[in-house]
Amino acid sequence: MATVRRSVALLGATGSVGTQTLDVLRREPDRFDLVAVAGSRRLRELAAVVREFRVVRVGIAREQDRAELREMVGPGVEILVGPEGLAALAASADIVVNAVVGFAGLPVTMAALASGRRLALANKESLIAAAPLVESVRATPGAEILPIDSEHCAIHQCLAGSAGEPGRPDVRRLILTASGGPFRGWTREQLARASTTDALRHPTWSMGAKITIDSSTLMNKGLEVLEASALFGVAADRVTVVVHPQSIVHSMVEYVDGAVIAQLSRPDMRLPIAYCLGMPDRLDHAWGQLDFTSAFALTFEPPDVEAFAALPLAYEAARLGGAAPAWLSAANEVAVAACLEGRVAWRDIVPIVSGVMDSYEPGPLSSIEELYAHDARARELARALVEVVA
Ligand code: NAD
Ligand code: MG
Repeated sequence: MATVRRSVALLGATGSVGTQTLDVLRREPDRFDLVAVAGSRRLRELAAVVREFRVVRVGIAREQDRAELREMVGPGVEILVGPEGLAALAASADIVVNAVVGFAGLPVTMAALASGRRLALANKESLIAAAPLVESVRATPGAEILPIDSEHCAIHQCLAGSAGEPGRPDVRRLILTASGGPFRGWTREQLARASTTDALRHPTWSMGAKITIDSSTLMNKGLEVLEASALFGVAADRVTVVVHPQSIVHSMVEYVDGAVIAQLSRPDMRLPIAYCLGMPDRLDHAWGQLDFTSAFALTFEPPDVEAFAALPLAYEAARLGGAAPAWLSAANEVAVAACLEGRVAWRDIVPIVSGVMDSYEPGPLSSIEELYAHDARARELARALVEVVA
């Protein structure tokens, strides 16, 4: 049976998820047409993608890069700039892959859903910050979110095979697995001396710098609790985290009768990416294939929430609701950026976020303008705390 060709916009094409998405697209030239890409830096790599896939529209973050990119891609390619550019590109394809990092991915999420597209979502920060707003644009006819984040993609797969209504009364809880990051088992005293270089050595996944740091503080798992709650309409207190160092079980769903359904595969992001692109078809590439002919063990342990305070902070943000998750994520972005720039130490990240959350100013979150105001205020407070620590 011939498959229907679908157009794809890949925003954040030069990053870790972006380049792995290109790898999937390269192997499926008959299924997908890459029609739009975007990236913020690495113009040379971006131009190479434009040439390889004959992409007709490309987005960049800064106006000052336009001339240099034009030089590299030639006259026939449309160049769009900034958040408006990202939004226009996100409204222009059947499938929109949001592989931008951070709150900068918001225009992609909102525009893709508002224009009734399939959103293949890696950019968790936009969903977490804008959850109440996403909830309404998600109702646009044709709009759907398929999660690329491996845990959420696993849950999507575990839910697909079962009956149940929206809100899932038959689901008791979602169980997110966490590798535990490079500092699993470290005591608080050891963690106080952890370096950024140590934090950037993830044991099982190779990812962009921001999410790698988030994995080392467990803030990534905290953000994923908020992400799961928003995606699946399950309250955060029904989302549990379990440490599973092998990163083979990508997450699980526990049903009311106690049955637990899990999704297993080797840790390779191309599997969840291909799942989101191909749905309802599974693409025939054995990215996640496990070898059961040799022995291996799967272990599970509870997270150390004393040593990793980011996790309770995320649950607290979920309990507060409203704009609290947006504040948490914004403060974390500022603190992680300061850490990556060497301005604060790794151990300062979570206390900075916690300090911002202590000053949380609840307020309405019913429009994008209000969300930008919350985001700006949280960042301002986080920057002030960075100055104190630096
Ligand atoms: P990365 O830093 O490797 O790549 C980020 C991409 O976003 C780059 O292409 C960059 O140019 C682009 N970008 C950043 N700001 C932009 C802007 N203003 N306009 C246009 N493009 C912009 O990050 P990553 O690791 O690929 O992660 C991307 C997202 O996916 C994050 O939200 C992360 O949490 C999520 N995620 C990543 C992985 C992974 O394996 N890397 C797994 C799960 C979820
Ligand atoms: Mg994940």
